[in-house]
Parts: sequence; C-alpha cells; structure tokens
Amino acid sequence: MQERFCTCGQRLQVVYDLTGFVPWEALIMAQGHGDPIKVCPCCGRHLSIHFLR
Ligand SMILES: [Zn+2]
Repeated sequence: MQERFCTCGQRLQVVYDLTGFVPWEALIMAQGHGDPIKVCPCCGRHLSIHFLR
C-alpha cells in the first residue's frame, strides 16, 4: 500500500490488487474507507494513478 496525494492535497491510499480481474490494477482508496474510489472525495477530480503525486 502506498500513500499518494490528489492535486488538491487530499490524502489517498493506493493498493495494487494482485488477485483482481486485471492483474496489477491500482485501486485508489480514500483514507478510512474500504472501497475503491474513482473520484477524489475532496475536490471531485477523476482519479488516475498517473495523475497522483
Ligand atoms: Zn482532490
């Protein structure tokens, strides 16, 4: 698990799911939430592993 940040500063967690349908798919989680998210809970920006800092 890695800690990344949205461009707005929201802290996110990235998990690489080795058992999922797509190997090595990066799942982005919000802090304290168990489900993957697609958009930032803070600014609503669409999240991509490539755009996180
Ligand atoms: Zn954000």
